[in-house]
Amino acid sequence: MDSIGPVGLQQREGAPGCSQEGLPCPSDSSELVLECLQQFKVTETQLQQIQASLLGSMEQALRGQATPASAVRMLPTYVGSTPHGTEQGDFVVLELGATGASLRVLWVTLMGTEGHRMEPQSQEFVIPPEVMLGPGQQLFDFAAHCLSEFLDALPMDKQGLQLGFSFSFPCHQTGLDRSTLISWTKGFRCSGVEGHDVVQLLRDAIERQGAYSIDVFAVVNDTVGTMMGCEPGVGPCEVGLVVDTGTNACYMEEARHVAVLDEDRGRVCISVEWGSFSDDGVLGPVLTTFDHALDRESLNPGAQRWFEKMIGGLYLGELVRLVLAHLAQRGVLFGGCTSPALLSRGSILLDHVAEMEEEVGEATRVHALLQDLGLSVGASDAELVQYVCAAVLTRAARLCAAALAAVLSRLQHSREQQMLQIAVATGGRVFERHPSFLSVLQKTVMLLAPQCDVSFIPSVDGGGRGVAMVTAVAARLAAHRRLLEENLAPFRLNHNQLAAVQAQMREAMVKGLRGEASSLRMLPTYVRATPDGTERGDFLALDLGGTNFRVLLVRVTAGGVKITSQVYSIPEDVAQGSGQQGILLNWTKGFSASDCEGQDVVCLLREAIGRRQAVELNVVAIVNDTVGTMMSCGYEDPRCEVGLIVGTGTNACYMEELRNVAAVAGDSGHMCINMEWGAFGDDGSLDLLRTCFDANVDQASINPGKQSFEKMISGMYLGEIVRHILLRLTSLGVLFRGQQTQRLQTRDIFKTKFLSEIESDSLALRQVRAILEDLGLPLTSDDALMVLEVCQAVSQRAAQLCGAGVAAVVEKIRENRGLEELTVSVGVDGTLYKLHPHFSGLVAATVRELAPRCAVTFLQSEDGSGKGAALVTAVACRLAQMARV
Ligand code: ADP
Repeated sequence: MDSIGPVGLQQREGAPGCSQEGLPCPSDSSELVLECLQQFKVTETQLQQIQASLLGSMEQALRGQATPASAVRMLPTYVGSTPHGTEQGDFVVLELGATGASLRVLWVTLMGTEGHRMEPQSQEFVIPPEVMLGPGQQLFDFAAHCLSEFLDALPMDKQGLQLGFSFSFPCHQTGLDRSTLISWTKGFRCSGVEGHDVVQLLRDAIERQGAYSIDVFAVVNDTVGTMMGCEPGVGPCEVGLVVDTGTNACYMEEARHVAVLDEDRGRVCISVEWGSFSDDGVLGPVLTTFDHALDRESLNPGAQRWFEKMIGGLYLGELVRLVLAHLAQRGVLFGGCTSPALLSRGSILLDHVAEMEEEVGEATRVHALLQDLGLSVGASDAELVQYVCAAVLTRAARLCAAALAAVLSRLQHSREQQMLQIAVATGGRVFERHPSFLSVLQKTVMLLAPQCDVSFIPSVDGGGRGVAMVTAVAARLAAHRRLLEENLAPFRLNHNQLAAVQAQMREAMVKGLRGEASSLRMLPTYVRATPDGTERGDFLALDLGGTNFRVLLVRVTAGGVKITSQVYSIPEDVAQGSGQQGILLNWTKGFSASDCEGQDVVCLLREAIGRRQAVELNVVAIVNDTVGTMMSCGYEDPRCEVGLIVGTGTNACYMEELRNVAAVAGDSGHMCINMEWGAFGDDGSLDLLRTCFDANVDQASINPGKQSFEKMISGMYLGEIVRHILLRLTSLGVLFRGQQTQRLQTRDIFKTKFLSEIESDSLALRQVRAILEDLGLPLTSDDALMVLEVCQAVSQRAAQLCGAGVAAVVEKIRENRGLEELTVSVGVDGTLYKLHPHFSGLVAATVRELAPRCAVTFLQSEDGSGKGAALVTAVACRLAQMARV
């Protein structure tokens, strides 16, 4: 059996009455005392079982499996790395729950790598019992009051105060400054706090107090503060262990092992929350009648939290009191008499235990303390009381060692190391006041985790410095976030801005139709009707893409539309040579049939077909992709009267009243108008919305000053806009640690398809990072999150602008027809629209908002260009036949 400190009662097993390690031999009544204290003995086997059970509980919680309330919680904090030592600045730290029934405020100055360490200023305030058990607001108001009282007395400059909140209770953290209390522990029980964000409660109280303007940047618990504030020795300190009022530990876990985080790189600090550990299987045999009595009297009876109640300082004094009262009642102590004080809860505190335990050999202080409790102290009483204190403390230290050994085994396993060398930062009054606690702990850990080489480092400033460290990091992140928001704000369009775009679009449409100066050309397409479903026949369509030339046979029957196609690649000499085919290249770029070039295409095609004389063909119509999209969807849905493309470029067309089209004679009937809306805003009407990033993209484009609307919306440009924002954020030091990379300076390196991938809901941030790392941009999780937000802002604006345009179009159709309500469909094509995870939804939402009297359905076209061209022809043939009849 191991040695367990100066007054180790466990060692007396089988050798009653003999002295040990210089202790005087106890008197006869010691037999009875020892018998009673036997209950506090925990064997090595029991410790090993506890260690194993705790490890199992930890690993289960890490895997995200539902664990009983009696298990450890393993709560991820948002602390991702141990300090570099470069952190600097002045910080205010408010500690609640770390030091029992008191609250501590500290002023911590971090000097970075250069400076020497400065002692913090601090003040401790006792929390009145009625505040600890009263309404939550009262507690937080008390905290805010203490803060300003402390600050009032400081001579420092108190502008822009940065505060770190050390809140040492089990919390669900969702950010460095967002933390929801799960349940009070350690003797606190304020109403209205559980289930609420404690940072917000503190902020509200500071605001109510109104004395200082203080930013709360981070919330951590005392174990994290202890770990983070530790002066790094040989290696970083990666475990924090606190035994104060309660007990807990934290350590740096590999993020990939933490199921709830969905993160595969780096480490994250996990708060073990072992106070709740209560596995009856392994702890049952260890529990004494005194533990059960203590549980019954506690604030949370039944919610056993056995570990906290056997180790935490709040309970150690109480356990001692219960044992002493029992022994007095048995006639063993104090001449068989108790006192009202001895029988009342809370009369022996942790500090008393420390004093009684310390004075081995010279028992006057013990005498005084016991007399204060109204007890008559007999000759051997003081000594026996020391045994009781030692037994209670030794058990606590050994249980704590078993728990720490579980954490160390976990670390050793997750780091895949044979021999783990690690530093553990220790903090809390049990360590400070009871030197024997650490020595018992150390010896027991060596026994239970022989494969770990552990050095114990006492915490600095009771963890206050560590909280300041975390706050420094959080403050830097918050500053970055502000810069991010400033740069993204111009992309976030409100309702009024979008309504203004809609109104301007409407005005430009009207002017364009009238033939007045307008950025919208509003080209007539000579397509006078959408399909009505009666079209029949075989049609040949030619679709010329960038590299391919597709011939489609489109068969329109009563059973639907069937397409057979063949793809030919265009020989380079043909594509680049001048002549007949050269004009064809314009075909897919959106020129309309009314254009001279378009007419030429038809003639040339006719001639070319004539030259081949292979088949009998009649070239009837030529359409652009927007019209084709509308027509192809129109065959399925006769209400489809708008066509929209959002791919490399963007454009729209719709069915206008012929009487409104100045360029074409006739007063009745309809005509499809190709808006060429990509050019919208080229007259400066969008300038108010354009950001400096849009200007950068425009200047670097092949057509500066042209296609303003398109450059804010379409696939050719979104990636570039994002790239320019990322460049700016890097130069501000917000991203990539401020390091510009050559890759990011390369034009078009950031593809628009990355926006889709990054914004995809099913992708985790880690995949965002993988995408960017493929681009040679190594980033942290914080970087990845910011890049995601940049992408969201850019694609959201694009979709909303597009939606404002569609709203203008459908509203015009509704008013043209004098309808209260319009039901209409929009045929859409384009890879950005179809593949971006949120684009289509945002377009629809914007249209609903801006055109509430139109019920708009969006239909995605399939093979719009080929099928659409055939259907335009089919409709033209139908109309021609009708005219002949
Ligand atoms: P086009 O408009 O040239 O006829 P597409 O409709 O296929 O052809 O659009 C191509 C454009 O779509 C590309 O320029 C690219 O920017 C964009 N794009 C490609 N893949 C995606 C994607 N997964 N998500 C969003 N945009 C994409």
